[in-house]
Amino acid sequence: MSPTAIGLLALAASLAAVVAPLVALWVRRHIAKLDRDAALLQAIDDRLPAEGDKDGGDLREESAMLRAILDLSEVTVGQVMTSRRDIVAVEADLPAARLVDEILSSPYTRIPLWRNSPDEIIGVLHAKALLRAVRAAGGMAAGLDIDRIAQRPWFVPETRTLADQLQAFRRRREHFALVVDEYGTLRGIVTLEDVLEEIVGDIVDEHDPIVFGLKRQQDGSVIVDGKLPVRDLNRTLGWNLPTDGWASIAGLVLHEARSLPEVGQAFAFFGYRFEVLKKQRQRIAELRVTPPAGESDAA
Ligand code: ATP
Repeated sequence: MSPTAIGLLALAASLAAVVAPLVALWVRRHIAKLDRDAALLQAIDDRLPAEGDKDGGDLREESAMLRAILDLSEVTVGQVMTSRRDIVAVEADLPAARLVDEILSSPYTRIPLWRNSPDEIIGVLHAKALLRAVRAAGGMAAGLDIDRIAQRPWFVPETRTLADQLQAFRRRREHFALVVDEYGTLRGIVTLEDVLEEIVGDIVDEHDPIVFGLKRQQDGSVIVDGKLPVRDLNRTLGWNLPTDGWASIAGLVLHEARSLPEVGQAFAFFGYRFEVLKKQRQRIAELRVTPPAGESDAA
């Protein structure tokens, strides 16, 4: 064997000696975590009330929340974010007075600012910061330096788990992040509320834009809560969706798609288009439904 080969072998052997214990440590920790999770799941199940126990509702809800907390490391930011096309953002170079109007007419507290194209977010404007700046300028919006009032955007990867995102929100003491894919392309936004809803279910804000689970859009489509009964949709919007075999609109899509779709996936059934906007745990939380041309007037 040549001296070079012997040298390489010796190097490989010493590398293996260093790496092997690290791998063993990782495997041991991983197994310990799996054991801990299994023990926790068992403990959660043990406190479940007996089947049919009418007073066990609170306990069942608590158990679902505890399970959801354990699931935070299985669910990614991309699965719960508000998708790109539903972001309310404002062009940074609008005259300041127009910008104030736009922000006041939006239901949201934090508004991304874009320049050149809606995908190029250069800052995030907090409605309160804007108010303070207007007051400091003697009530005059004209002449405000919006770039200075806005916060720098915080970009996070869509593949990050909710457990990690929750830690990141706490570390940075922020509630709002812009979600990007591996190429840095804007995919959506995620807020602390999106993560907390994963644990506690829907939180309805006092200014929540979803009224009874239904938001009509200017283009004739409707954003609906997945739990909304198909019958209610048909009645309210004069639609004609079939109601046999499923109660909710999410149930209809699951039935027709024959699998749990991803956020962003779209389907056409019965002449309607269904796009998945949000998922929560293993359910479709929000959808955009576009009716056939003739029926969009009803919306
Ligand atoms: P706050 O409760 O602090 O006033 P908010 O009500 O404006 O804030 P959040 O409570 O953080 O917003 O989020 C509520 C929901 O609204 C979340 O699903 C989030 O993704 C969405 N959301 C927040 N800001 C925007 C925005 N600018 N455009 C579109 N959706 C947004």
